[in-house]
Amino acid sequence: MGFAEYYRAFPTYTDLSSQEYKKRLEDLEPLLLKYMKRKGKVLDLACGVGGFSFLLEDHGFEVIGIDISEDMIARAKRYAQERESKVEFILGDAKNLPFNDREFDYVIFIDSLVHFTPLELNQVFKEVRRVLRPGGKFIIQFTDLRELLPRLKESLVVGQEYWISKIIPDQEEKTVVIEFQSENDSFRVRFNVWGKTAVELLGKLYFRKEAQEKINDYSYLIVYQLK
Ligand code: SAM
Repeated sequence: MGFAEYYRAFPTYTDLSSQEYKKRLEDLEPLLLKYMKRKGKVLDLACGVGGFSFLLEDHGFEVIGIDISEDMIARAKRYAQERESKVEFILGDAKNLPFNDREFDYVIFIDSLVHFTPLELNQVFKEVRRVLRPGGKFIIQFTDLRELLPRLKESLVVGQEYWISKIIPDQEEKTVVIEFQSENDSFRVRFNVWGKTAVELLGKLYFRKEAQEKINDYSYLIVYQLK
């Protein structure tokens, strides 16, 4: 059970030329630029294959991407070579960042909360606070899975070939196991369930909220500044 199959199954996160990935870039581009008016040094935290790093590089930012998955970083580096990009992609853990204090003007953290337990996300937020410069911003985008979960019906088709065949929350709905099924394949992934309220409570401990944007029914972007 795991994320490897999940990322293999859905191009949304792994294939920059897929419609799904392009749509995510298009949806977020104007919002990121709205809150990133000053150029500067950006950390793309949990960068995956690097689409958002490249987007910001194209807009004149200096970008470093970090991800814990060797496979994601290898793909990001391949894309970087193809594009003759200067983005540096580093293998590393968001909970223990290999950077000095106050190195970045921005940290962006896109669509990655499902990987982190509350304790882990607490550690990530602490690290983000440490690596941000005074005046820096932390921009986080996430899906409110707590809201979405009751509305995820069995047989919901996701992507082009997979549908959700089972949804198994734990007792307190802190995590949920989702079973994905296709004609010839099936796998389960355990997601951490984050709702907007929980993200905001944690964020409040470390940052001051500058703005919040609703991207669609269940997706939000929150812009934080250092306190
Ligand atoms: N931000 C990228 C995007 O929007 O395309 C990737 C999103 S993907 C859904 C989540 C990413 O989080 C994966 O690439 C995964 O490897 C990464 N990840 C999970 N745990 C991590 C950790 N502890 N440190 C850094 N990256 C992590």
